Amino acid sequence: MPYQLIYSHRRRKTISLSINKKGEIVVRAPLFTSSQKIEKLLKEKEAWIRKRIHQQQTSLTLQQKPLSSLSFLGQAYPLITNLSPNDPKILAWYQERGLPLIKKKATYFSQKLNVNYRKIKIKKVSSYWGKCQSNGDLYFNYRLLAAPEWIVDYVVAHELCHLIHPHHQKSFWHALAHLDSIKPTQAKKWLRQNHLSLL
Ligand SMILES: [Zn+2]
Repeated sequence: MPYQLIYSHRRRKTISLSINKKGEIVVRAPLFTSSQKIEKLLKEKEAWIRKRIHQQQTSLTLQQKPLSSLSFLGQAYPLITNLSPNDPKILAWYQERGLPLIKKKATYFSQKLNVNYRKIKIKKVSSYWGKCQSNGDLYFNYRLLAAPEWIVDYVVAHELCHLIHPHHQKSFWHALAHLDSIKPTQAKKWLRQNHLSLL
């Protein structure tokens, strides 16, 4: 398998593997790591690597495919003309429909949790579904709105719960699971399995 090798200048002790956006294997290794050692690791991790490359390619194809409909809370809304996935109209569409909905949910869960949030923004990001700042600002990935409603509920409640527990320790999960209709384990599993179809 061809790979890109980056020798680390920091005092790295282990070899790490990742797949970049182009679907290439990137190996980060401590200085003086032998190529045999790297090849051996690649062989061991071959199944994982192939799976990740496949996911990467699927997401690239999905990102380029013109869209004929948009999904909102798991329901498809046909478009009059096909849109490129990068068309700014898409983000605007989700913001317009999604913001009132997310605000309503955030108000509901913040009352249940007895916390206050400040402002809510729906953004085009790829690194998170939801994010909570310590000042109470909440950010959500517009793609979250394509998911079924119980998943949106989970992510909104999750972020608000961070205003009480700014970590992922037991107390956080306990408080979250305590809320009616929030199923953290199932929701996390759903997002893991379906995140590619929400791209
Ligand atoms: Zn979290």
